[in-house]
Amino acid sequence: MTKASQTLHSRANTPSAETLTKWDREHQIHPWAAMDDWRGYDNMLVETAKGIYFWDAQGKRYIDGPGGMWCNQIGPGRRDMAEAIADQVIKLSYTSPFSNATEPSSVLAKKLAEMAPGDLNNVFFTTGGSTAVDTALRTMQYLNNRRGMPEKKMILAREKGYHGSTYLAHSVTGKERDKSKFDFETRLVHFLPDVNPYRRPKGTSVADWCDAKVADLEAAITELGADKIGAFIAEPILSSGGVIIPPEGYHRRTWEICLANDILYISDEVVTGFGRLGQWFASESVFGIVPDMITSAKGLTSGYLPLGACIISDRVMEQMSGLGEASSFTNGYTYSAHPVSCAAALKNIEIFESEGILEHVREVSPHFQARLTALTRFDIVGDVRGMGLLGCIEGKAENLEAERTLGAQIDKACEDLGLIVRPLINMAVFSPPLIITKDQIDEMFDILEQALEKVSADVAKAAS
Ligand code: PLP
Repeated sequence: MTKASQTLHSRANTPSAETLTKWDREHQIHPWAAMDDWRGYDNMLVETAKGIYFWDAQGKRYIDGPGGMWCNQIGPGRRDMAEAIADQVIKLSYTSPFSNATEPSSVLAKKLAEMAPGDLNNVFFTTGGSTAVDTALRTMQYLNNRRGMPEKKMILAREKGYHGSTYLAHSVTGKERDKSKFDFETRLVHFLPDVNPYRRPKGTSVADWCDAKVADLEAAITELGADKIGAFIAEPILSSGGVIIPPEGYHRRTWEICLANDILYISDEVVTGFGRLGQWFASESVFGIVPDMITSAKGLTSGYLPLGACIISDRVMEQMSGLGEASSFTNGYTYSAHPVSCAAALKNIEIFESEGILEHVREVSPHFQARLTALTRFDIVGDVRGMGLLGCIEGKAENLEAERTLGAQIDKACEDLGLIVRPLINMAVFSPPLIITKDQIDEMFDILEQALEKVSADVAKAAS
């Protein structure tokens, strides 16, 4: 029997959970795998999912606190999504985006242009968030090369920002731990310091902190020269960095500075878009800015299929074209505008509209945020922060060493009690499916409180 036929035969016989875990351990490399012991660690084998819950191979139920990877907006396992996807597979599963248009991609591009603010009317489809970010940054490079400004290509990014895992998206990512042993491009990027108001020096008001953070941007422009800087890339809320919400007024002031200096503002809405803050996109509706480009992915299909989009303003498109010299936009992927992914995105949007998902998020968010804020009663909680259905608990402890383990401790206690959170050093973040009800928010925070009680008791015991 050949290796391939053995595998097919085994699949037909539904391998046991133990076998699947063994094959996973022996043959699959997971994102962010712990390389000191990558074969020694078992990933949870997830079997089914419905609504805000999923079940592991042993039948244990969990609340999906992170909503998959911040993407599970309408909840998994919907038959209407399955049917829309199946219909598109049967009608047209693929055609080359390099030469052809399709109904789903044309309709989706039109829809996104309507949803996006201002004159962001032009959509380049990608395969996910990283490739959307890559596309936005390459668009800036292409634009400034074509405009005869090849020196104006430095990218301003921020510490704690996360923008993806392609070489360029990784290079503008400011999470130092993610960069431990991979190479990245330093020539192209300049990082601005942490904007987290929780990290402001004692005695500094939030308004003063905002001034300081705006001054960081101004100082970078003075130091590097506006004629050398092509773009500023920023998540409206630095999500993977720990749901960091820059101080009020920061977005608008930094955007105005970029405008005044001919620096493209790229708003990375891979997490904040598609309902997470109760809006299609947060840039204008929540933060009052109309960027030059918006990147989107994740909630665009509610995680049913991979898809990303870089939405570009008319102004940028006009500057890039008609310059009297033939030139192709040589950026793109075999699976750009994949018709089945676009059909999934369209069905997802239809469900958002028919079921009032944005309105629902706006209605339940105050309850979610109130339950989150109440967690400050625990001594081990240093800060809580969030907006919409996005939240983070930042743990605090006697010393840095103890603090570093808090995220993992909270994660373990929650998991035992049937709630998945996303641990990040001393933090736990959550972004549950947007369909979560008020009762389910209570169920989730009741578990979190129990978990925090357990961790508090463990911490006290360890200290005594
Ligand atoms: N941008 C932001 C803000 C993200 O949070 C992520 C992923 O978490 C990405 C980009 C990269 O997206 P993807 O993992 O789909 O490539």
